[in-house]
Amino acid sequence: MEIAVESGVRPMEMGVGMGKNQTLICAPIMADTVDQMVELMHKAKFKGADIVEVRLDHLKSLDHRPDIEVLIRQCPLPTLFTYRPTWEGGEYNGDEESRFEALQLAMELGADHIDIELKAAHEFMNFTRGNKPEKCKIIVSSHNYEYTPSVEDLGNLVARIQAAGADIVKFATTALDITDVARVFQITVHSQFVDRQVPIIAMVMGERGLMSRILCPKFGGYLTFGTLEEGKVSAPGQPTIDELISLYNFRSIDTDTKVFGIIGKPVSHSKSPKLYNRAFKEDGINGVFVHLLVDDVNKFFDTYSSPDFSGFSCTIPHKEAALARCDEVDPVAKSIGAVNCLIRRLDGKLFGCNTDYVGAISSIEIGLQGSQNGATHTGSPLAGKLFVVIGAGGAGKALAYGAKEKGARVVIANRSYDRARDLAELVGGKALTLAELSNFQPETGMILANTTSIGMQPNIEETPISKEALRNYELVFDAIYTPKITRLLREAQEAGSKIVTGVEMFIGQAYEQYERFTGLPAPKQLFRDIMADY
Ligand code: NAP
Repeated sequence: MEIAVESGVRPMEMGVGMGKNQTLICAPIMADTVDQMVELMHKAKFKGADIVEVRLDHLKSLDHRPDIEVLIRQCPLPTLFTYRPTWEGGEYNGDEESRFEALQLAMELGADHIDIELKAAHEFMNFTRGNKPEKCKIIVSSHNYEYTPSVEDLGNLVARIQAAGADIVKFATTALDITDVARVFQITVHSQFVDRQVPIIAMVMGERGLMSRILCPKFGGYLTFGTLEEGKVSAPGQPTIDELISLYNFRSIDTDTKVFGIIGKPVSHSKSPKLYNRAFKEDGINGVFVHLLVDDVNKFFDTYSSPDFSGFSCTIPHKEAALARCDEVDPVAKSIGAVNCLIRRLDGKLFGCNTDYVGAISSIEIGLQGSQNGATHTGSPLAGKLFVVIGAGGAGKALAYGAKEKGARVVIANRSYDRARDLAELVGGKALTLAELSNFQPETGMILANTTSIGMQPNIEETPISKEALRNYELVFDAIYTPKITRLLREAQEAGSKIVTGVEMFIGQAYEQYERFTGLPAPKQLFRDIMADY
């Protein structure tokens, strides 16, 4: 079986789970005492780490031989010993000789790796006089807490690290923009797959660099760092071990893995990676879906233009800019003026569409019919209905266009009357002020869709319309999904209307995106199960 799909992703050729990749997950171990560190090492093993980084500089006191002996003997995983000085972002501010002694001792006592900073490497190699057990690998590291240098400068840095006697090269830079990560990938790919040089650990720090920590098995990284708990990081932007393994399916990522993601700013709150990565796993798709904190849409798409970056969801504030960037746009998305889903086609062109409106409208159709089938062969249950949209922003436009497409008569009520009027003109509908809405009761069986943020957390006691004014609405929809049941929906239920939540819209918009990303039917029940507790 071979299923050709729009994005160029072919389930059979992707071979997910073909085998565990070779990239290690390393848990940084930071604690005040040796006993606490040993406890954390066991926790790291339980969570699925492959190796631990023992951060000696975090110990309140260190009695070299006995403490390092315990740390090695009692560790259930291979070890990497790091004794980071303050001048390289660590906690140690003692003398270099004592630091070198501890690292040398770690090598002698059986550490699998030790880390020495590039700036101190020459001195350290002289200190050890080249004596190192065969088993122990020396990682020579460099940290740039300010920016990510050019490809040329990074190449020179790698050469200097290698020349300093590294068995493994490590460099960490800082992402000022998500496109900085591409330069680091260029270095690791070239070094691992072209020149086949010594292994490289390459990280780009900060939220904009998150991708570097997740995609390193694809781009030739020796190791990534995964923390035991959220926020307990040894460098900015580290994900947890749980996120790497359970959320991003890290073990299944390989050189053929297709990259998908949600571009937005902010973006870390998005639940999309939860949906798509679980579904990829269940469907055997060799893909990973990541959070992409993007500042500049054009720069992002200029940089990540390879078909390996196959599909994107798009959220605030980039939906309009993303549309402008597309080579081809679905006609409805064009009318709405926003895309929330982009596919990189095999010919390299970007195709954009809007699944927000499908998600919302199909949820409302299903709500009206009381089943999962939505529209039937007899047509949409919205046809001929009076459909009142509160709001004229991105979601309001999508709902208004969708309702019109389904043959509804559309009315727009908005705080800024001018925007209501403009949208009403576009969809051939009627415009109201918010004040007029309460007395707008021309018929029974109407549909109401709130697309404003009135009633959203934290202002959960607000509502865009009084309970009394809801009596003629057969169904009330709210695009807000925090909280799931808004005051508007609660009062609509009390008034006897059917209700549809913003969570339904979120799940609905994801169905079509998944189908466009993979060419496979969306696992609807799975999406519902994932969002059930939400
Ligand atoms: P948007 O483009 O900024 O539009 C906001 C709309 O709300 C505008 O019509 C605005 O009126 C109105 N508004 C904002 N504050 C108001 C207030 N205090 N009183 C009266 N009207 C107010 O935002 P959007 O992207 O359409 O998003 C709107 C809502 O939909 C958000 O809550 C968002 O979370 C939700 N949403 C949900 C999903 C989903 O999957 N469930 C998807 C997309 C959006 P003016 O024109 O007068 O400014």
